[in-house]
Amino acid sequence: MLRQTRVAMSIETVPRDANNLRACLFCSLIKTVDQFELDGCDNCDRFLQMKNDTEKVYECTSANFDGMIAACMPTDSWVCKWQKIGDKAPGVYAVSVSGSLPDQIVHDLKAMRIRYVPNMRDTTGK
Ligand SMILES: [Zn+2]
Repeated sequence: MLRQTRVAMSIETVPRDANNLRACLFCSLIKTVDQFELDGCDNCDRFLQMKNDTEKVYECTSANFDGMIAACMPTDSWVCKWQKIGDKAPGVYAVSVSGSLPDQIVHDLKAMRIRYVPNMRDTTGK
């Protein structure tokens, strides 16, 4: 189902509904565009500030991701430890996310002394 969504993904044709899932480019949390708009990212909103900012949501999230991991008890789950998301909020996370944050946002993060590593959960090279 996820792969079908990816293949069909196009800004013009995909309706803005509950199936419109995107993954946060910083922490890989998966939510719908509406959820990101309403609440921001559970982990990153204090610095990404996507809340009530549709443009920011599209800049800071990607519709191009693979795999989904449900993390209900991040501190206890071996899956989460394995995926290095043990310190993140409970939720659904992508195994890998394509794309990176816009330069301007990376610059802002640097100014806030927040270390952003693009595709930090991509462990294929290690
Ligand atoms: Zn996030």
